[in-house]
Amino acid sequence: MALIGAHISAAGGLHKAYQRADAVGCESMQIFTRNQRQWLNKPLSFQEIEDFYRASKESSVKKVVSHASYLINLAGSDEIRLKSEDALIKELDRCHHLSIGDVILHPGFAVNGTWEDALKQVSESLLKVLDITSEFKVRILLETMAGQGSVLGGDIAQFSGLLDLVEDHPRIGFCVDICHVFAAGYELRTHESYNRLVGILQKHVGLERIHCWHLSDSKMEKGSKKDRHQHLGEGAIGLNPFSMLVNDHRFEDVPAILETPKEGMGDEGNIALLRKLRGQ
Ligand SMILES: [Zn+2]
Ligand SMILES: [Zn+2]
Repeated sequence: MALIGAHISAAGGLHKAYQRADAVGCESMQIFTRNQRQWLNKPLSFQEIEDFYRASKESSVKKVVSHASYLINLAGSDEIRLKSEDALIKELDRCHHLSIGDVILHPGFAVNGTWEDALKQVSESLLKVLDITSEFKVRILLETMAGQGSVLGGDIAQFSGLLDLVEDHPRIGFCVDICHVFAAGYELRTHESYNRLVGILQKHVGLERIHCWHLSDSKMEKGSKKDRHQHLGEGAIGLNPFSMLVNDHRFEDVPAILETPKEGMGDEGNIALLRKLRGQ
């Protein structure tokens, strides 16, 4: 079964995320290791690494993933691309020291040229970053996107092209966001359509490369290309796909991370709902 969890704040110290995750019953969690909206950040201190390690020993959280900065765009202009590569290398370095196995990354958005050109640029940057960090085991998980404008990753088939370009690098994986794939136009609300989507994922990325799921309902209709998260069961998606996912043995031990709004029923309510759907 998937490991139910949520995106958890690391305000006041990375190790505090563990306490917050435990308080709402997480089996997995996603954090930002640094401010996700700025380029320059302090390096990790030994104290931070030690505190994080100690907190992990006392927590019931089994897997942690990190979400990379929103500023990173490997498909960007020369200047943005270099800053993005540097930020990604630093993120992988922090995760290596914190024993976090996976970094989730938005594939980027094309600033000029076709999406094929953009994918080629992204793959070259990924290979460069993977080479520079070759002593680390940390994987980069590319996230499926809602596909608004020139954003890459709305069409799942793009990822099979990208995998070819990075020569099926073992440190490249994927994070499938349910709200995003629905907004991008994929149906998944019935048993049949959910399995069809899993078939598409199998074909283009391979199920063994899916190391994270993002869970939220969608305020917008299927195919809207707009990314608006909602509490589970309160949007256009409904509870069905979430129930099928947390009971799907093909995604054993894969973190299923809630990215639902923090207000209202909050993480606690959404986690309780997922547990009920899973039957424990
Ligand atoms: Zn994301
Ligand atoms: Zn989103």
